[in-house]
Amino acid sequence: MTEATPSHAGPFDVAVIGGGVVGCATARRFALSGARVVLIEKAADILEGASKGNSALLHTGFDAPTGSVELALMQRGRDEYLAIRESLNLPLLETGGMVVAWSEEEEAKLDAIEAQARANGVHDVRRLGAAEALAREPGLAPTLRAALLVPGEHVIDAWSAPLAYLFQAIAHGAAVRRGTEVLGGRFDGARWRLETSAGAIEATSVINCAGLYGDHVERLCLGDASFEIRPRKGQFVVFDKPAAKLLRTIILPVPTERTKGVVLCRTIWGNLLVGPTAEEQQERDRATVEQATLEALIARAVEILPGLAGMPVNAVYAGLRSATEQKHYRLRHEPERHWLSLGGIRSTGLTAALGLAAYAAERLGFAQDAAQHAAPVPNLAEHEERDWQRPGYDAIVCHCELVTRREIAAAFDGPLPPTTLGGLKRRTRATMGRCQGFYCGAQVRQILAERAHG
Ligand SMILES: Cc1cc2nc3c(=O)[nH]c(=O)nc-3n(C[C@H](O)[C@H](O)[C@H](O)COP(=O)(O)OP(=O)(O)OC[C@H]3O[C@@H](n4cnc5c(N)ncnc54)[C@H](O)[C@@H]3O)c2cc1C
Repeated sequence: MTEATPSHAGPFDVAVIGGGVVGCATARRFALSGARVVLIEKAADILEGASKGNSALLHTGFDAPTGSVELALMQRGRDEYLAIRESLNLPLLETGGMVVAWSEEEEAKLDAIEAQARANGVHDVRRLGAAEALAREPGLAPTLRAALLVPGEHVIDAWSAPLAYLFQAIAHGAAVRRGTEVLGGRFDGARWRLETSAGAIEATSVINCAGLYGDHVERLCLGDASFEIRPRKGQFVVFDKPAAKLLRTIILPVPTERTKGVVLCRTIWGNLLVGPTAEEQQERDRATVEQATLEALIARAVEILPGLAGMPVNAVYAGLRSATEQKHYRLRHEPERHWLSLGGIRSTGLTAALGLAAYAAERLGFAQDAAQHAAPVPNLAEHEERDWQRPGYDAIVCHCELVTRREIAAAFDGPLPPTTLGGLKRRTRATMGRCQGFYCGAQVRQILAERAHG
């Protein structure tokens, strides 16, 4: 499927390659500054790469490398998310986070973690003794020794955010070409001509936001790659809604030499999430889940939060981080060739996306326009009012997640209609509940067939 939103047919000022969260934020930022933007995505819909499956935490950067570009861009991205979220109707679950020490060895590390947080400008962290930590989270195993409270760690909606960024870009005239793979490119000294699976696209500058294929796209267009993607898989377990009542705060591990440990947190949709693992792999497109790993995740989660024992699991999934051979972000600016790569955005890109976008606009000399059309997204968060709670919703289609017919219709009538079941799920929550589409799947597929392919 190829498409072009009508505002500009090209040539463009800026071509953004990749419709992950970083590409969506980047397209928004350039469109807001009045640039003629095209976002090019090879998949049938956006958010099919690393941005499809993550933990959805809005980080403070308390444990990021002090003085790093990653830290600066995470904090910038976070600040902008908090500033724009109301105008775009983006949710925030203000949970706070707690780094919990379960052994003497882990407890000894809390001082250094606290010092790093303060060095990173996160000054509201606070040490909690065992009694105080258990008073805050009575469901945790009483074997905990101490904790570091990080009040600014929050949970957001990893899909509504990039959708809102791209909707706003479209409201400012950006074109989106889905189902369009960049196959190569040539720079003639003034302008790029990108060869794609759907014809040539011309643009003055190119921003490479191709995530797990960032090195590949550099090689295709520049002839060499400045980094090498080494995918790192993270597997997750999603517990059913009652489990979310067991916990308010994000429970973070103390990292050890052997393991990064397991994170427990509520999701924006009212579930409880456990994960992720960190597993190196070659494959860039496939993130499988393995029974033994999932069982180990569940076992550790039950040790941490004993009330989880016997709780039903709704779903399991895995995401791929676009890690590279080095730990830091791989940003490559080639001013003479009008090229910028935002690469290696491995595990903090949801938080940093708006910061990375601002960085890109500054690098290319685009100032932000003051006038902005907001393009609010429908609320999908469980703790805010949902569509089924308002009159006139027609009918409930997905009963587990209480998704209405009106919400599904709105997704198809919106600025970037879904083209796949996954895309519809990410816009509405349909099929995400405890039956995983067993009851509503046929109806949802029929609506998709009629609206997207009819
Ligand atoms: C397990 C896990 C947990 C995480 N938890 C968090 C978290 O809690 N908080 C946080 O801030 N971050 C988190 N992250 C990180 C975050 O998800 C990533 O940093 C972010 O999604 C990267 O986005 P991206 O846009 O760079 O890449 P992607 O989402 O991979 O987007 C790149 C896009 O480019 C497209 N593309 C590739 N090649 C081409 C081509 N030739 N032509 C056209 N299109 C192309 C792809 O199809 C893809 O859609 C986590 C990641 C994982 C995997």
